[in-house]
Amino acid sequence: MADEFPFEISPMFEGERIRKEGMHVELAGPKSKGFELVRAADMNDVEDGRFTLIGPDLQDMEEGSRYPFAMIYKIAGELVETDLESIVERRNHEFQNYIQGMMHLNQRDDVWIRVGKEAVSKGLNSFEHIAKAVMMLFKNELPFIEKVEAIYITDMDEIEKEIENTREVYKARDERTRGLHDEDVDTFYGCTLCASFAPTNVCVVTPDRISLCGAINWFDGRAAAKVDPEGPQFAIPKGELLDAESGEYSGVNEFAKKLSSGEYDRIKLHSFMEYPHTSCGCFEVVGFYIPEVDGIGWVDRDFAGTAPNGLQFSTMAGQTGGGKQVVGFLGVGVNYFRSPKFIQADGGWNRVVWMPKMLKDKVFQDMPEDIREKIATEDDAKDIDSLRNFLKEKNHPILERWVEEEVEEEVEEAPAKTQAASQAGSATPQMMQMPANFMPSMPMMGSGSGGVRIILKNAKVTVDKITILKEE
Ligand code: ZN
Repeated sequence: MADEFPFEISPMFEGERIRKEGMHVELAGPKSKGFELVRAADMNDVEDGRFTLIGPDLQDMEEGSRYPFAMIYKIAGELVETDLESIVERRNHEFQNYIQGMMHLNQRDDVWIRVGKEAVSKGLNSFEHIAKAVMMLFKNELPFIEKVEAIYITDMDEIEKEIENTREVYKARDERTRGLHDEDVDTFYGCTLCASFAPTNVCVVTPDRISLCGAINWFDGRAAAKVDPEGPQFAIPKGELLDAESGEYSGVNEFAKKLSSGEYDRIKLHSFMEYPHTSCGCFEVVGFYIPEVDGIGWVDRDFAGTAPNGLQFSTMAGQTGGGKQVVGFLGVGVNYFRSPKFIQADGGWNRVVWMPKMLKDKVFQDMPEDIREKIATEDDAKDIDSLRNFLKEKNHPILERWVEEEVEEEVEEAPAKTQAASQAGSATPQMMQMPANFMPSMPMMGSGSGGVRIILKNAKVTVDKITILKEE
């Protein structure tokens, strides 16, 4: 593609993973600091193609080490406006991954980058190569950018000086959509940036629902579609409102069919259990249904521990991702927690039972006041039993969904006993509508003795083997 670079540049390197053993250096990431930021600037304030580095360069970095890392791009052009910043910024992720030997994960101040040993041995010894390649791609792929310059920072003091301002920029972007709601507009925006690894993904960005990666809000989608309507962000006329509670629109359904090549034909924007939004793979947070308490837990990328269901973020992310509509799991952007329509079809915040403390702190001010103390964190509940006790103790509104043991008395004369995993408890949640592709590791509910009552509504259940034993 370009002979001037000591590496290949191609979308085929996008899925490249660089493990610890294969890395030359790690930049930013959970154990260090950093960010990426794109700012729109005046034509006169941008020197096209210029690269500035503040701090040590790649060749001065020790193999196997970790450094802070920030990337600032200034863009200018007749069509360039502030609203385009997020869209361009999101492409940094894509373009850096086009570089062979480079891995870019996450976004904003969560970026996490690794440069591989092999790339360095082939001559990638300066950040200038990387910045120049990305700037070239920006101009090739986003023709509204007439001028671009890059400033990379590897000096901790300098990054700390810049990071607070940068967070203010992110915050201001996120806050813009607060006063605008799905019902106020007639166009939503679609995004296909994740289609390369999640071909059936249908990303719909609305005023009340930020993209899963947390990087693109409705204003960003609109700005991008305006400058490049054939590009990865485009308008979705929302069509007819089919159901306000769950956020189902005829226009979204039509696009779902088209974008997923017929795999999905319904998407309810604010639903968790029924026709949920598809999940690509770059979601910031994954929600998981906990059948034992009939509640929903959330876990974010930064949480390294185990959720009460015994699973880690990475395991659940693996189940959730790939552009599938996975009932029982849902990928979202952090800002979706601030949406007044947050999973409203499933009870909204009243359905939330657990989240890591760090994530809870992040959105604490945006949670309804009466629920704040009733949602458990890893400090309150590490497994299902302690979660159940915590919810009872706090009188969490989820208790209203639990059906007391009286149901057992309704059981008919000759009850059959299934060999399903027994989950005896003083209160057994009513069986939810069984999702079609529910994870097998999710235990089925049964009562300890005297029979089982299972309510299946609109169920599609596949069972390989079921053994029914006669009561002795
Ligand atoms: Zn994505």
